[in-house]
Amino acid sequence: MLEIAARLEAAGFEAWCVGGAIRDALLGGAPLDWDLATSATPEKVRSIFGRGRTIPVGIEFGTVSVLDDEGVQHEVTTFRRDVKTDGRHAVVEFGASLDEDLARRDFTINAIAFRPSTHELRDPFGGQRDIERGVVRAVGDAEQRMREDRLRALRAIRFASRYGFAIEPATLEAIRRSAPHLTRLSHERVQQELVKTMEQVRRPSEALRIWRDAGALKVLLPALAEVDDLTLATIDELPRAAEGAMTRPQRTSNRVAALFLGVPAVETRRVLTNLRFSKHETHWAAALGERWQTVGEEMTVALRGGPLEGAQVRRWLARVGRTYTGAFVRIALARWTAMARTGLPAPDAAAVRSLHRSMRRSLLSDPLELADLRVTGNDLRRAGIPAGPIYAKILHALLDQVLEEPARNAPEVLLAEVPAIVAALGRGVASGPQPSSEP
Ligand code: ATP
Ligand code: MG
Repeated sequence: MLEIAARLEAAGFEAWCVGGAIRDALLGGAPLDWDLATSATPEKVRSIFGRGRTIPVGIEFGTVSVLDDEGVQHEVTTFRRDVKTDGRHAVVEFGASLDEDLARRDFTINAIAFRPSTHELRDPFGGQRDIERGVVRAVGDAEQRMREDRLRALRAIRFASRYGFAIEPATLEAIRRSAPHLTRLSHERVQQELVKTMEQVRRPSEALRIWRDAGALKVLLPALAEVDDLTLATIDELPRAAEGAMTRPQRTSNRVAALFLGVPAVETRRVLTNLRFSKHETHWAAALGERWQTVGEEMTVALRGGPLEGAQVRRWLARVGRTYTGAFVRIALARWTAMARTGLPAPDAAAVRSLHRSMRRSLLSDPLELADLRVTGNDLRRAGIPAGPIYAKILHALLDQVLEEPARNAPEVLLAEVPAIVAALGRGVASGPQPSSEP
């Protein structure tokens, strides 16, 4: 990055580090990427570094990506000013000064520039002071800045909760007034902000509570307009994708699922599809919500009673299914922790621990799904039962017996039960609960 800045300066142009990197460096963090702003036009940038080292990632906005010695991309953007805005997109013009370029940035903390060649720091809007005080403040007139680009309302909330900053009152007021206009944002943008919030913010409840209280949820995600504090607090108890050594995108999916814990699965599916979440993520959140609303709620009540029986735990696990058990357990534990933290009558910690242990044990050693049964459709065919829908019914009845008593999961034991099950089915007697359909 320094080499890129030096090359631009040597060619007679200014090169300034701008934006998030300076902000994060001043906050004492290690920035992930360094963006440069320069007086050179995009064409000049391309000719200085050559076609081989540059990618015109957003040339109409003045952005060229330049590869450093290690092949890492750095965004180099020409100083620009906005000539026209429409609530989301701006038409930009080059030939601007650094100060004009900083003036079009959203928040003072994002409008600080550092010039490596001279070690000059440019901070025309008091961004350093706001970093010290912990304030997110719009550059210039907050109302107007939000009108130019409605995404800024969501960005302000994200930065504030990410750094534990306050939102300056005029900026907060402008966010509130922006809420009805958030329909201007594309579904992809809203998804991106939601995901970034889950990824970057340690306690997303703080951000989402502002989304809710400012009226943003009502406009963007009506199903969550009245989302309760417990649901939001549950998300806080689930780790971020990048906590620890590696990033785990699964964690973001679990946080999104936790947000929709109280929403009926059909609705979750509709909302997330609409926000352009992937099929997998949509399905994941809907499935976990459905399981929480049935099994999770039941568990919460049962945990208040006496000790739980193994058969009960196995039946719950069977309903959750192996695919979802890991995430389900994480979410349930988060939920119960959040209940305790928010002063709600939460299940006793010792009871939760014992349930958790019991679930882990069953998961490892007990038959919980049809695939775990020691009898298959082939065995039924060999036993002379004509193939048909009755097979599924028989197998589910056997699974039910095995959930009750795992030791019964032996071919001879189970096959000996088949005639009685067939007879009961013939009489129209459902033996045990009906098979739940896999989503
Ligand atoms: P992050 O660490 O999340 O990437 P960032 O500050 O780098 O934070 P980006 O979205 O990468 O955020 O944007 C880089 C810079 O571009 C910002 O710091 C800000 O100066 C400017 N910027 C980005 N989006 C907007 C916007 N919608 N309106 C005005 N300025 C913006
Ligand atoms: Mg960035």
